[in-house]
Amino acid sequence: MVDPMNCLLISIGDEILNGQTLDTNTHFLAQSCREQGYQVRAKYSIADRKEEIVEALKLGVTIADVIVTTGGLGPTKDDITKKAIAAYLDVPLVFHQPTEDRIRQLFGPRRIPFTQEHHQQCYFPDEVELLENKLGTAPGMWWDLPSGKVLISLPGVPYEMKHLWNDQVLPRLLAKWPVAIRQFTLMTAGTGETVLSSLLSAWEDQLPSGCSIAYLPDLGRVRLRLTCIDPVLSDDRLHSLKQEMETLVQDYVYGYEGETLPEVLGRILLKQGKFIGLAESCTGGYMSHLMTSIAGSSAYYAGGVVSYSNAFKEDMLHVSPSTLRDHGAVSRETVLEMLEGILAKPLVNVGIAVSGIAGPDGGTPEKPVGTIWIAYGDQQTRRAEKILFTKSRLLNIEYAAYYSLNLMRKFLLGL
Ligand code: AMP
Ligand code: MG
Repeated sequence: MVDPMNCLLISIGDEILNGQTLDTNTHFLAQSCREQGYQVRAKYSIADRKEEIVEALKLGVTIADVIVTTGGLGPTKDDITKKAIAAYLDVPLVFHQPTEDRIRQLFGPRRIPFTQEHHQQCYFPDEVELLENKLGTAPGMWWDLPSGKVLISLPGVPYEMKHLWNDQVLPRLLAKWPVAIRQFTLMTAGTGETVLSSLLSAWEDQLPSGCSIAYLPDLGRVRLRLTCIDPVLSDDRLHSLKQEMETLVQDYVYGYEGETLPEVLGRILLKQGKFIGLAESCTGGYMSHLMTSIAGSSAYYAGGVVSYSNAFKEDMLHVSPSTLRDHGAVSRETVLEMLEGILAKPLVNVGIAVSGIAGPDGGTPEKPVGTIWIAYGDQQTRRAEKILFTKSRLLNIEYAAYYSLNLMRKFLLGL
């Protein structure tokens, strides 16, 4: 078995250390490395300071085959990465005329002046290979070190960094270190990792060596990923492992390889030629937002009513005042009437109604914060279910939304 390639990811920038910018770059890079079977040995976040960058690079080459830095390539004074790399490699910064020509070409039509700062951007540590940045002024950089290791430096702006990584860096890395793992992912919803792991544990114990399962939880959803180090398994064996795993947790599997619940639900609605309507109280339109974030949702999403107040529940969905008075807004009776109200709207074939106490206030001993009633169904069949999820307000909302969409998915599939 070949050892996987090791990476070190370094995000550079004062704004990351002082909490002004969330470091999403190394998150993206780590995911991408993982998909290729490259092992991320460490991630560092460091300031725009030459000495610290040099120290990080020195340490980096002792633990990794590939070192990737992001950030510090801008035209401003605080952007110091190139100077630090030049110091580390012990090479001078040299002027690169084609970069100046490119920036002038880019700026000309937009009448942006070429300043002294831009001139500085055209200096690079000697012996670098520049990687063309189609989306910005700072190219990426690549060095093949004498040790066979590789040093890569990318700009900090996330979309520029991703473009350079996907289009220029990854193909070259893959040529040098081919993909070292095989993996697949089951997307599950409706239960937590404890239940899933109890269903899988006996099977997991018998997996061939070199194969392992990762449980990757999100709110109300868990990604289950089986990874096998290549070339342990044949395609057939991998395929049968996939089927065995899916059979064991089939009640909870809604999709594969990163598919989202709104996507999958949308596909089912489209296939069945149905339109969904949503009556939302505590989720405040979040379910509608999730559904309409998917391109093409107009083919199956009819609309929604955000009936937050009792007055709106009565006016827009015809929930009866006596139901609200006798049972309260968070009750089986109310969500069933909200559902009836949304099913009466134009186009709507199936509907979901949600009413709950998102918190932090409004709970009572009988109905604590996190109590959420969900009704779902169509003209023939209607069901209601109560869940209790006691996290913070926004988490309760997110959980309720995903849980409800999953109930509708199962309803449509007759599960
Ligand atoms: P720089 O290449 O240092 O000029 O970075 C340009 C901009 O990219 C910064 O102002 C940040 O908004 C953003 N940025 C830099 N590093 C990161 C990172 N690790 N994650 C997310 N955004 C970043
Ligand atoms: Mg910076």
